[in-house]
Amino acid sequence: MLWPFELHRSYHRRNDIHARFGGQQQGGISTPADAPGIFIFTGHGAGHVGYQDVFETDGSFRYTGQGQLGDMRMISGNRAIRDHVQNGKDLLLFQQTKKGGPVRFEGLYVCGGWEIEQQPDMDGQPRQAIVFTLVPQSGLSIEGEDLATDAPVDLPLAELRERALKAALASNEASPRIALANVRARSKAVRDYVLARAAGACEACRSPAPFLTGTGQPYLEAHHIHKLSDGGPDHPASVAALCPNCHRQAHFGVDQVILNNELLARVKELEK
Ligand SMILES: [Zn+2]
Ligand SMILES: [Zn+2]
Repeated sequence: MLWPFELHRSYHRRNDIHARFGGQQQGGISTPADAPGIFIFTGHGAGHVGYQDVFETDGSFRYTGQGQLGDMRMISGNRAIRDHVQNGKDLLLFQQTKKGGPVRFEGLYVCGGWEIEQQPDMDGQPRQAIVFTLVPQSGLSIEGEDLATDAPVDLPLAELRERALKAALASNEASPRIALANVRARSKAVRDYVLARAAGACEACRSPAPFLTGTGQPYLEAHHIHKLSDGGPDHPASVAALCPNCHRQAHFGVDQVILNNELLARVKELEK
């Protein structure tokens, strides 16, 4: 299953989002317990104090966190955004232009980092605000096109693993504005390691990769087990390298839940 939201289409926040997936119906950050995503709302009507949210020219989005008065703290919704990669949650961004009006789906994002910035609170008092740099997941494709043209990564497995773990946890630390390229590099570090770990055989059916790419690498795809969409950095314990058939099955098969649960147990074991 994929998220049922179309880019730039408008939705009714309560009926189309919360009635279906749960999560808080008010405020800027909604964290449903049972859905693999976090809903982020921006815009003056969204009950969100971040009037300084802004889309940057590189496509990234500066999003002010949660907390109406006083200094913001890295708790609840803010922490959920910071930790979404390791918790296997997608970030879905919606924009509201008018209070009570529909919300427009702006796409899936990845938290690239965060920093503290001086901003006025609801009472106009200066305070420390948490500002996240979110980058669009659409720029982070991990599908075959990149893989077929990438130069092979010639590093020992242990080193690739080190890089992948670092990449998965990078958004936990405060960091100044992180460019899209940086998140893409993190995403690639995870993929490189998972493909190396698989050593040329699908981690689901164990068959050898169906073909070699132009650069001589066995062709497998990185599948994010928790997330509904592949792409972005993720913890290696929730990413599997799959042959194209198993990958489609993991997304669309009638037995996808069983398959994903088995995969999760298998890669967790590998990453113990
Ligand atoms: Zn397979
Ligand atoms: Zn996948």
